[in-house]
Amino acid sequence: MADYVIAGPAQTVAPIANSNSVFPVRRIYCIGRNYADHAIEMGHNPDRESPFFFQKNPDNLDFSGTFTYPEKSSDVHYEIELVIAIGKGGKNISLNNALEHVYGYALGLDMTRRDLQTNMKKMGRPWEIGKAFEKSAPMGPIIPASDLDHPAEGLIDLKVNGELKQKGDLNQMIWKTAEIINYLSEYYELAAGDLIMSGTPAGVGPIVKGDVMTGSVSGMGELVVTVV
Ligand code: MN
Repeated sequence: MADYVIAGPAQTVAPIANSNSVFPVRRIYCIGRNYADHAIEMGHNPDRESPFFFQKNPDNLDFSGTFTYPEKSSDVHYEIELVIAIGKGGKNISLNNALEHVYGYALGLDMTRRDLQTNMKKMGRPWEIGKAFEKSAPMGPIIPASDLDHPAEGLIDLKVNGELKQKGDLNQMIWKTAEIINYLSEYYELAAGDLIMSGTPAGVGPIVKGDVMTGSVSGMGELVVTVV
């Protein structure tokens, strides 16, 4: 094998709950507007249109329990999401087999520079700088599906400094986990190591330094993240 001319990038790994093992991360796909009440609050039609996706970068993940307030924004929002971890890849994965491709699930935050995202939307430009910035994806450990099954219903919520801000139920997802995998795999070849952030319920809003965000999904515990 040829020598690298520079040091190679580090492989991002996600911790596995109650284990010393880790999950190597390849890509991070995110679905937009996957809860009707959040689509409405963002000024969009909640009908079941085709899903749409954007990406964050693997090295945007942060497992430290902190979120570093980013540069170039004064309106940074939380979005609590169920994260799907793909354990087996494929193309054109059928709806019936889709859940067999899931390794496990985690809690994650799709932190968003809303002011930058809104400007990009107005200009019809990609959202990249609003979504895929340094440390924009605080995440908790992955719980294997073998320990959890495949969560399809139950409370998903987020509190800031103990005050309830976001509240929904996983059964309100417009596109369900199996449907997301089926659809995405028709456009991309999914691979082991991919993460999918499955969308957020209504109630998104801004945070400031010092705030403590506590996200939870019924049966999956809490993700506690302090804004620094
Ligand atoms: Mn989101």
